[in-house]
Amino acid sequence: IKNGQPGPWAFYDEALRRRRNREREMEDQMEASLRDGDFFVMLQPEYSACGERLAGAEALVRWRGPDGGVIPPADFIPLFERNGFVLRLDAFVFESVCRLLRGWLDGGLAPPPVSVNLSPLHLHSADFVRTYEEILKRYSLPPDLIQLELTETALFDNVALLHQVVGRLREAGFRLLMDDFGTGYSSLKLLKNVPVDVIKLDKSFVDDIGSPRGESIIRTVIGLAHSLSMTVVAEGVEQKNQLDFLETAGCDLIQGYYFSRPLAPAAFAALLR
Ligand code: C2E
Ligand code: CA
Ligand code: CA
Ligand code: CA
Repeated sequence: IKNGQPGPWAFYDEALRRRRNREREMEDQMEASLRDGDFFVMLQPEYSACGERLAGAEALVRWRGPDGGVIPPADFIPLFERNGFVLRLDAFVFESVCRLLRGWLDGGLAPPPVSVNLSPLHLHSADFVRTYEEILKRYSLPPDLIQLELTETALFDNVALLHQVVGRLREAGFRLLMDDFGTGYSSLKLLKNVPVDVIKLDKSFVDDIGSPRGESIIRTVIGLAHSLSMTVVAEGVEQKNQLDFLETAGCDLIQGYYFSRPLAPAAFAALLR
């Protein structure tokens, strides 16, 4: 403190202190929240590029805070990846999706495959695959109704381990999706090493539609994916011109606010009727 004025560090310390407190609060509450149903799942529809067919959905987790407000995953997933709780949260989301799918099938509906996010933390060992298989069995669901979304991470440098986990997931019959495709530095190496069914083109690419270089890259990625028999989903599609370009470029599926925001399960089910 100089001349009685707090220096810039004081503001930094204050912000850091607040964040630490907030994180400590979240860690104190996470177990009880999981038990009490304060985590819940929203489903964002995915449509065929022509917009006519509901072809899938992504499950996205939310946290109902003590004041009733909804906390977005960006506020808690990074913390839960550090403290490991994300493993249990992902399993909870997975089971919630299984329960929903079972209910819809029992009700005579024909749900499309639903995507569930898999934190990179899962890729440290293949042990979780058996748990996921057991849950699937408990709800007697065919595994191809579930798609698991993997993201590119530094751990993907451990190709041997990655092969093992991905191999187990494929043996179990799950469909695999490479999320946020193109944002990692090793996307092409991954494509070579990891057999996935679907790639999800990151929103940052969709945002580049309108620029010739951006469009050229998207066309090339779609062509490459198709030549490897993979499906392409574009995420974060908000504008009509983005949709038009993606449809012309041969993109298979579209996810984004242009068609729909994430929906509560009941609202999603209404689309199936
Ligand atoms: P993500 O996996 O890339 O999910 C897509 C995010 O983009 C979602 O944000 C979705 O609501 C948002 N989005 C969809 N369409 C649009 C659009 O047209 N415009 C814009 N601006 N955004 C759009 P959300 O639900 O806040 O999730 C953020 C991230 O949190 C996810 O990114 C994912 O990395 C993580 N996440 C969410 N649910 C889970 C989960 O159950 N497990 C794990 N491990 N991570 C999760
Ligand atoms: Ca995702
Ligand atoms: Ca994504
Ligand atoms: Ca993304």
